[in-house]
Amino acid sequence: MERKNAWEKYDDAKRQVVLDFNEDYKKFISDNKTERECVADTIRRAKACGYRDLDEIIKNGESLKAGDKVYANNMNKTIALFVIGSRPLEDGMKILGAHVDSPRLDLKQNPLYEDTDIAYLDTHYYGGIKKYQWVTLPLALHGVVALKTGEVINVVIGEDPSDPVVGISDLLIHLSADQLDKKGAKVIEGEDLNITVGSMPLTSEEKEKVKANVLGILKSKYGFEEEDFLSAEIEAVPAGPARDFGLDRSMIMGYGHDDRVCAYTSLAAMLEVENPDKTCVCLLVDKEEIGSVGATGMQSKFFENTVAELMECMSQYSGIALRRALKNSKMLSSDVSAAYDPNYASVNEKKNSAYFGRGIVFNKYTGSRGKGGCNDSNAEYIGELRKIMDNNDVAFQTAELGKVDQGGGGTIAYILASYDMQVIDCGVPVHNMHAPWEVVSKVDVYETKCGYAAFLKEA
Ligand code: MN
Ligand code: MN
Repeated sequence: MERKNAWEKYDDAKRQVVLDFNEDYKKFISDNKTERECVADTIRRAKACGYRDLDEIIKNGESLKAGDKVYANNMNKTIALFVIGSRPLEDGMKILGAHVDSPRLDLKQNPLYEDTDIAYLDTHYYGGIKKYQWVTLPLALHGVVALKTGEVINVVIGEDPSDPVVGISDLLIHLSADQLDKKGAKVIEGEDLNITVGSMPLTSEEKEKVKANVLGILKSKYGFEEEDFLSAEIEAVPAGPARDFGLDRSMIMGYGHDDRVCAYTSLAAMLEVENPDKTCVCLLVDKEEIGSVGATGMQSKFFENTVAELMECMSQYSGIALRRALKNSKMLSSDVSAAYDPNYASVNEKKNSAYFGRGIVFNKYTGSRGKGGCNDSNAEYIGELRKIMDNNDVAFQTAELGKVDQGGGGTIAYILASYDMQVIDCGVPVHNMHAPWEVVSKVDVYETKCGYAAFLKEA
């Protein structure tokens, strides 16, 4: 039952193919640190491969046929790509789904204030974080500011090497006696995640001169005013690009591998698809880290509505045909898994853990306690997937998230499974999940992309 190390499959020439594939992934996660940036880049990449906007097709009253490639953009935060198959939609689809939101610090609606000649931005954290990890790091600000005029301003501060960065202070060790007696969850508290953004007062006679100076910079450089923060979505994220990790460069350290590593590999596999039998889908969704809620989360009707629109464009729509299309589908719910970490061995059960270097991980179930809240994938479906992986020489492993009763987690799997389709969780193993800088193995990234491609070809 021991799985082999996937690097051993490859000679030096083939290892270079693995390494080269990861160069574009490094660029993808370095450039795209928010759900909006991921969706915009996905649209750019899809268009270059011949995809068209489904909204335009609907507006023009055009019809769709087998082989056509379309995308549907939901509020610039969630996107679905389709390649129309030769078989009718009601025979089912082959779906890859991943999420493009990651844990971070969101600016509050009224964020800017001055205290003791220092200007701060107040935040509300998003997703599950260890708050003490987010202090004394260079942070960048990414997002949008929507003006009353309807104009939307894009903001990225802290990524260009010539940009300033911002960050959150921590208490000096010399005065930390009380702080270090606290529980880990309380060492740094949510309301104390305040980002330092300035300390230079204006030369004029105003009050709050440091804050006024920061506002002047935002106005002149980005064209928005303090009140415009009310209709802004700005995320503070770790600043700087993803880097090769390890002296052998076998891994990547980056922000937001969860779950952009599965989004990227799903997208890469999807963009290779031409003229499939069943319709292929790549679904990249927002809001997974906070429960898949809202219009752009997986629980939204967006996907179901989009499939209905697609069927209408092919004169295949009826209520019952839509339900059959969903029920007859197969899905890989693609999300990261916890990689076994010898530094923290006690939380894992070694026979059923994921390991760096052993390829794509299949999680029959996630959940917590007695499998609470999980999608427990069917044995028959796993049998089929094993065959597809083995036929295509894809390195895969199976795991659950830690020891029984150690904790747990969830994904979007259960939401798609509620349409009565076959769904399993699978993805890339990660060290430091949800930390500002997470780590993946390059060979796992590559094997995962190969696994997704094999699924789209043969499922
Ligand atoms: Mn995830
Ligand atoms: Mn997560």
